[in-house]
Amino acid sequence: MIPSIQSKLPEVGTTIFTVMSGLAAEHHAVNLGQGFPDYPMNAELTSLVDKAMRDGYNQYVPMQGYMPLREAIAEKAGKLYGAEIHPGTDITITPGGTYAIYTALTTVLQPGDEVIVFEPAYDSYIPNIEINGAVAVRLPLRYPDYSIDWQLVRASVTSRTRMIMINSPHNPTGAVLRETDIQELRKVVKDTQILILSDEVYEHLIFDGVQHESILKYPDLMERAFVCFSFGKVYHCTGWKLGYCISNAALMAEFRKVHQYNCFSCHTPSQVALATFIRDGETYLGLGNFLQEKRDYFIRSMAATKFDLLHSYGSYFICAKYHRISRENDTGFATRLTMENKVATIPVSAFYKEGTDNQVIRFCFAKKQETIDAAVEKLLLL
Ligand code: PMP
Ligand code: GLN
Repeated sequence: MIPSIQSKLPEVGTTIFTVMSGLAAEHHAVNLGQGFPDYPMNAELTSLVDKAMRDGYNQYVPMQGYMPLREAIAEKAGKLYGAEIHPGTDITITPGGTYAIYTALTTVLQPGDEVIVFEPAYDSYIPNIEINGAVAVRLPLRYPDYSIDWQLVRASVTSRTRMIMINSPHNPTGAVLRETDIQELRKVVKDTQILILSDEVYEHLIFDGVQHESILKYPDLMERAFVCFSFGKVYHCTGWKLGYCISNAALMAEFRKVHQYNCFSCHTPSQVALATFIRDGETYLGLGNFLQEKRDYFIRSMAATKFDLLHSYGSYFICAKYHRISRENDTGFATRLTMENKVATIPVSAFYKEGTDNQVIRFCFAKKQETIDAAVEKLLLL
């Protein structure tokens, strides 16, 4: 007999990304669903990993992460955002951005705490909050530009509000926070005990000359913030599952207590390689233009279809309305599109706990031109 357990996440199924990629594989569909590039990563970076392994970097690094990598990250944060980050105390290397977010939430949340989270929200956020016994206070972003209603935020703060989660550039919508948003955030948290979790995994994937408003730029906000990053997104290697979290020494000390008994340390050769590689700013500064070209190619190619694209300012996603094609709900439509029309996407309702459905689907354009061409050829038939 299998002993029964009480589920910690009774309402949760399999993540939509795995579901849609599975469906795409099963039906031989072009996969513009799950967010990952299908073009090769930088060969110099893979050679550096190979070299690190051959040079004998194959044992544990300290639980905080390989120090030269933390030093390189601190230098980059100084150069880009004017931030004074101490590699010894303020940075921890993690197995991906998702883990960094989970660890930050687990570090601070007590049962009954409230976390303000904006929907559509990346699908790990709410389960990560709830598994800690805390409550997700879900506020809708304003459709269709997906901006934050700060008046609603102010009205939603209570004595139990422990944290506000932000994500810019935003998955799934490509919306980005502006300086005015940061000023509003500042006003909301000033003189409170509210912490901030800023998911900045798409920091370099930002278009049209818009500047990324990193929380690292704001020393007053860094007193209360965990900022999470992903090397997978920056270096086209999502399968490496490597990222990091930056905070201040006091909060990071607590973060590390959780991290050291969960992961302890991350893959050493990749950290050694990145410590060298990221010192060259060219490796990340050209990324915005690179992906903007892909976005624009996708927009041009889709113009002749019946999809109506919303605007994407960043990330590698763009959303589309399909009301000129179908009145189905987005999950039904995305499923049928995969099975019958052989193009996989992600229904945006999956980013809402209650499944809010604006009949919008998400496309990932971080793909080779031939992949986009193959998908658009099929979408033109609709
Ligand atoms: N946050 C957002 C919004 C994301 O889209 C991703 C990518 N999956 C992550 C965090 C984390 O990325 P990873 O764990 O793969 O580094
Ligand atoms: N971030 C990616 C997306 O939004 C996928 C990550 C995942 O599969 N967990 O599609």
